[in-house]
Amino acid sequence: MSTRVRFAPSPTGKLHVGNVRTALMNVLHAKSTGGVFILRIDDTDVARGTQENEDAIRDDLNWLGLHWQETFSQSKRFNLYEEAAEKLKELGFLYPAYDTAEELDRQRKLQGVQGKPPIYDRRALELTADQKAAYEAEGRQPHWRFKLSGNSVSWVDLVRGEQSIETSSISDPVLIRGDGTFLYTLPSVVDDIDAKITHVIRGEDHVTNSGAQIEIFRALGGTELIFAHTPLLVDRDGGKLSKRFEDLSLSMKKLREEGYEPMAILSLLAKIGTSDPVEERFALKELAEEFSFEKIGRAPARFDDVELRALNAKILHETPYTVVKDRLDTLGVHGDEAFWLAIRDNIEVVDDAAGWNATLYAPMAGVIDADDKAFCDTAAELMDDEADWSELIRKLKDHTDRKGKGLFMPLRKALTGRNNGPQMGPLLTLMGADKARARLRGQIA
Ligand code: GLU
Repeated sequence: MSTRVRFAPSPTGKLHVGNVRTALMNVLHAKSTGGVFILRIDDTDVARGTQENEDAIRDDLNWLGLHWQETFSQSKRFNLYEEAAEKLKELGFLYPAYDTAEELDRQRKLQGVQGKPPIYDRRALELTADQKAAYEAEGRQPHWRFKLSGNSVSWVDLVRGEQSIETSSISDPVLIRGDGTFLYTLPSVVDDIDAKITHVIRGEDHVTNSGAQIEIFRALGGTELIFAHTPLLVDRDGGKLSKRFEDLSLSMKKLREEGYEPMAILSLLAKIGTSDPVEERFALKELAEEFSFEKIGRAPARFDDVELRALNAKILHETPYTVVKDRLDTLGVHGDEAFWLAIRDNIEVVDDAAGWNATLYAPMAGVIDADDKAFCDTAAELMDDEADWSELIRKLKDHTDRKGKGLFMPLRKALTGRNNGPQMGPLLTLMGADKARARLRGQIA
């Protein structure tokens, strides 16, 4: 049977590096096994989800190259969840509860005082038909809870190994709210069964959920699937990723704006927290070939944007002009392949090309220290019309007593205004002799 996996974001927010990593693990597993990657939009929470977020999620995944083969939205499938709920009611797995939020809160506080865990005490199971009728007459609508077995549920997790959840230690989950809407728990199971999902790959914050969901799977007669719960991402300092991630270099929106390459982001997210070294990769295929659940460790994976920048630079150093041409055009960079090849080793993100473009072509006076003035004038005189750097250096060595840094640095500063940067040979050729001579003479050119 071929692998079928799904990434199931809720459109209540935008994508951040944490959920992109989950999407990536799903894609890599599908790719490495010749399977199918499904994008499921978990939009049962109509009040909090937005079309704008859903569009942004799809757009970001496409930009990253994480393409899905099938997709569907939960909001279009309420009839299936209703059917499943009816079945669970008939089988005695779903029971109505009338407790208000305040009552539940009070109950939890009392349990706290008594030193008991905050688990729902199933008082709703004791209600008589008359009591239920009385609540309904009061205008209370029931929410519906799934009756857990109270036994332990075990599975072999592809990342965490043997797992076991004591269902007696968790509250019977609410599957349907008082207003009749579904929480995520049941629709997810119904869809996983219906879409014939073989592997559920998601963050380890869902481990307890899985205990309850496995029981719902069983109750609905679904064949059991395989779970892989991956450790969560933490920031560089080991702290939780900020909830207000949208303005930080953690959101796809921000990383895209900052000019990062999809493959830099994917290379980093595929490797952090695994036994493989973090290295740049140029295609998803390479990452898929190297992917294995066994390599994923149990410790949280650190996401460090400094590491991302370094990977991005390495990827750009190998990126051909044809790949970036359109983006350079959009940035207003005028330059051809020679320009790109001259500067690509000295940039971290494509947008940095604009700076080098300005250095080369926008009018600028070179930086010349008083001690270097005569030397730079000599350089201007000796420069040939081809603006050949090696030729210029050879002549300067003959005509002056300068060498090493004392020879090169004044030229670089006069020609580019900077202390470091790309190799001077190609830069000088691109700049042309006239401009170079003028800058060496301290003129604006
Ligand atoms: N919508 C859920 C979430 O974003 C999906 C969890 C799952 O993969 O089952 O957490």
